Amino acid sequence: MSYDPTNIFAKILRGEIPNGTVYEDEHVLAFRDINPQTPTHVLIIPKGAYESFADFSREASDAEIVAFVRAAGKIAKDLGIEDDGYRVIANNGRDANQEVPHFHLHMFGGQNLGRIIKPV
Ligand code: 5GP
Repeated sequence: MSYDPTNIFAKILRGEIPNGTVYEDEHVLAFRDINPQTPTHVLIIPKGAYESFADFSREASDAEIVAFVRAAGKIAKDLGIEDDGYRVIANNGRDANQEVPHFHLHMFGGQNLGRIIKPV
């Protein structure tokens, strides 16, 4: 599968759609989820055209990966959720129900998050 430049996050990166930006640097953009599941729910995305975690982990440069992880940690601290705790997840592909085909990390916080998945 090749990267689809019409996906909604590509449009956000091109400035075609407004978003609640909370962080930006050379490699990373983070903004508030339009449909938040917790009091704090932000999406952290690389600026490069990577469709999934799998793609990003294989193809991104070391500089992009380092920038991404460092940014995520800084965002949690800046949003004030580091001390009480937070969760980061990436939905990858069909079984994870990934909806937007541009790699993104969800960051959830601001309440007790319970268990990560329901038992089957
Ligand atoms: P996924 O299921 O792909 O991991 O999650 C996609 C996320 O993107 C969802 O939580 C959804 O609410 C969010 N989302 C979809 N469209 C938009 C949008 O236009 N703006 C923002 N800020 N978030 C969006």
